[in-house]
Amino acid sequence: MAKIAIMERKCTGCGLCAKNCPFGAIDMKDGRPELNAACKVCGICLKSCPEKAIVKLETRVESVDKSQWKDILVFAEVSGGRLHPVGLELIGKARQLAGPVGFEVRAVLVGQGVSAYAEELRHFGVSEVAVYDDPELSYFRADAYACCVEDYIRYRKPSVVLVGATSLGRSLAPRLSTRFHTGLTADCTKLELRENTDLVQIRPAFGGNIMAQIVTANTRPQFATVRYKVMDTPARGEQAEGEVLFRKLPKAVLECRGSCVSVTPVPPKKSISDAEILVVGGRGLQKESDLDMIRELAQLLGGDWATTRPLVEKGWNTNDRQIGLSGRTVRPRLIITCGVSGAIQFTSCMNASDHIVAINNDRSAPIFAVSHIAIVDDLYRVVPEMIRMLKEAQA
Ligand SMILES: Cc1cc2nc3c(=O)[nH]c(=O)nc-3n(C[C@H](O)[C@H](O)[C@H](O)COP(=O)(O)OP(=O)(O)OC[C@H]3O[C@@H](n4cnc5c(N)ncnc54)[C@H](O)[C@@H]3O)c2cc1C
Repeated sequence: MAKIAIMERKCTGCGLCAKNCPFGAIDMKDGRPELNAACKVCGICLKSCPEKAIVKLETRVESVDKSQWKDILVFAEVSGGRLHPVGLELIGKARQLAGPVGFEVRAVLVGQGVSAYAEELRHFGVSEVAVYDDPELSYFRADAYACCVEDYIRYRKPSVVLVGATSLGRSLAPRLSTRFHTGLTADCTKLELRENTDLVQIRPAFGGNIMAQIVTANTRPQFATVRYKVMDTPARGEQAEGEVLFRKLPKAVLECRGSCVSVTPVPPKKSISDAEILVVGGRGLQKESDLDMIRELAQLLGGDWATTRPLVEKGWNTNDRQIGLSGRTVRPRLIITCGVSGAIQFTSCMNASDHIVAINNDRSAPIFAVSHIAIVDDLYRVVPEMIRMLKEAQA
């Protein structure tokens, strides 16, 4: 870590530093240079100062003893009375990461009546399932849940903590990382573990145009959230392995300020992330009513429908049916895209689907780079023809 400092005594106010800064990070105020937040510590101002009035200060970073932190912990979310499948996906990924560095994989369950799920988790290759089961945890309160997971992290000192990027997980993970003054990378799409146990947290950045590799090099634990359907679900083992550890409710839970006043259950809704077959409409559709043929094709195939973001922005669809970085990640067995160009913000959240069929009249559309079957044609010709053939076959 470094920062730039200007020595007032030496500065003559010539303004060369401000003129030469490529980031516009130096403002001249009352004839004196002042650094603003755009400073990248590139050091060009040092070279441009004839008085040598600008210096680069190096700050020493304290690094944690990494050997004291080992194993991977997965937060196994139970919500709506079920074990959320993202927890199993994360256990599968954690096992792949843990093997080469000799780590174990642990899971933690928090809630009321969650003990019942510990047995199931033992079939997925974890060495320990920690359980915090108490009426105080009957409803999700972020601070109360964070107290429990924090208690277990302090007890076991895992090097890595993985949390599903669900509504609950997105509320819990930042609270935890703050308590440990450590880093958290949200919505990772890829995870790698270096030999020195640094977790390389890979995710799209700058609007999806680059894949950033983020490393929490000086602190532990390393927190990452991953969306549902990004990682593979591991196979359930015949044998139950590992131990179940029932933990006492931490006293701090009783001091939590949040309380649940009332609960209004939301009727369970089918998510496009769970669909096995998806038909997707893009901006190639000319009017809202053309979505009817997308829905009809989906229905004939026994699947569900979704769209790209521009159609949500036009008000033709709701965000829960949008695929992409700012929508949902999907991984169906079959996906048919109709009039979708294949922007990275869209493809990065569907390119793991088993079979991708793309219909686009522009043969240079990027969607064809990820599709298994490319149909270069007018969707207004292809989709009605598919519907006709399916109806004929069904009749
Ligand atoms: C931070 C950020 C987040 C984003 N998040 C998302 C997201 O979550 N989801 C998302 O979808 N986008 C997202 N975007 C927007 C994304 O960059 C694209 O603009 C968007 O995906 C384009 O949608 P589209 O493919 O439907 O439209 P277009 O890019 O306009 O493509 C339309 C395609 O239809 C084809 N076409 C036109 N007429 C026909 C026809 N008759 N028959 C066949 N083909 C035809 C065209 O050749 C074209 O390729 C995001 C952008 C940013 C910056």
